[in-house]
Amino acid sequence: MLKMVRKAPSNLDVFRKLFPRLKDVQFTLTEHPYGKRWGDDSANVSLEFSMSSGKLPPKLYPCTDPLCNKGGFNMESIIREMYENLVDERNGVMLCTGKYAKAHCAQQAVYSAHLIYL
Ligand SMILES: [Zn+2]
Repeated sequence: MLKMVRKAPSNLDVFRKLFPRLKDVQFTLTEHPYGKRWGDDSANVSLEFSMSSGKLPPKLYPCTDPLCNKGGFNMESIIREMYENLVDERNGVMLCTGKYAKAHCAQQAVYSAHLIYL
């Protein structure tokens, strides 16, 4: 009897399905971790993601504030918006999507995104 073995799609397969016209995406996220003194830029943490490195931008990069409720930085929504408008490059500030008691979380991250189309 033949057995069908279905391999789970890799993250790259999933990403390619979401953005079929992309050759690569380079995304840098720089966060000032929670608890570090403001103005102390040496505390900043920079993360680099790209399709070519195999380190894909996660859907939501989690916020470092321990009191933040399910917050983080939504890279996919930025990539999606750029992709739909055929934008190559964008730099900006992302706000954490989390809630903090009844207010919005104050964590921010600076990003730089570069999309290379097929
Ligand atoms: Zn947060």
